[in-house]
Amino acid sequence: MTAHIIDGKAIAAELRGRIGLAVTELQNTHNLTPGLAVVLVGEDAASQVYVRNKGIATKQAGMASFEFRLPADTPQETLLDKVRSLNDDPDVHGILVQFPVPEQISQQVVVDTIRPDKDVDGLHPINAGRLASGLPALTPCTPLGSVILAKQTLGDLTGKHAVVIGRSNLVGKPVAQLLLKENCTVTIAHSRTQDLASVCRSADILVAAVGIAELVKGDWVKPGACVIDVGINRVEAPEKGVDDAGQPKTKLVGDVAFDEAVKVAGHITPVPGGVGPMTIACLLRNTLTAACRQAGVPEVEV
Ligand code: NAD
Repeated sequence: MTAHIIDGKAIAAELRGRIGLAVTELQNTHNLTPGLAVVLVGEDAASQVYVRNKGIATKQAGMASFEFRLPADTPQETLLDKVRSLNDDPDVHGILVQFPVPEQISQQVVVDTIRPDKDVDGLHPINAGRLASGLPALTPCTPLGSVILAKQTLGDLTGKHAVVIGRSNLVGKPVAQLLLKENCTVTIAHSRTQDLASVCRSADILVAAVGIAELVKGDWVKPGACVIDVGINRVEAPEKGVDDAGQPKTKLVGDVAFDEAVKVAGHITPVPGGVGPMTIACLLRNTLTAACRQAGVPEVEV
């Protein structure tokens, strides 16, 4: 048996297309253009790529994109002033500060300063609390994307046993909350969980959000289960040879040993090309939602 491979790239592209149509409709009916502001502090190479990709995707969806780049030695108060001015800017409906930020800046203080209704990363404690209370919230993008993939693959998730490995505020906890909202029976596993393999084997839906390359082995997967691999880990790939500096080339792998799990699971996301592309699509979705709520117009379903 070989699992159905969930094509996150295609599902994300479809979602982005629907968001683009919704933006056009909002412009035509309410003269409203959703705007997303992204703030990058410092020169981190990976962050620069993420920010650039977010800007491109935002414009492709027909939204307004605002990009701010601050030097690595920016004092915390300067960044907070920037965030406060974006909080007050009526053209900006979503604010994202790219993490990680340099060490002189507290990530939590930054999150706490973003207006909750513009917090398109869904990290503000008010949004986390609203999600946990079953109230409308802005939800972290990767968890939202993960659950959309599961729903699109399986349909109704009611009654399914979901095991989420990882309990971070960014991924594990919000994924668990979203699956609970879909009427799953949810188990959250983490670094102190006893006999993780057995816990995983009981999962109809297994979400891995750990950050350890290929932690989840094939025999941890229940036959036919839906495996959503959130992990992104860069590992050496000697089979690809060496780079110009003579160092082994690298590749991205997930938290699941894909080659083993694909033989057991019913459905599985690849890395790359699974959950990853859904993150930006869900950021755009959150920006659309935030714009509708701030303007007091009916939310467009996408
Ligand atoms: P994190 O380090 O904040 O949290 C990791 C979690 O894994 C913790 O809750 C910890 O308890 C648990 N854990 C650690 N070791 C474990 C073990 N041996 N057994 C079981 N649980 C263990 O990481 P995060 O921010 O939640 O990210 C998790 C992974 O998801 C990372 O690989 C990250 O790169 C990836 N990620 C991907 C996207 C995306 O767009 N696809 C977005 C965010 C994060």
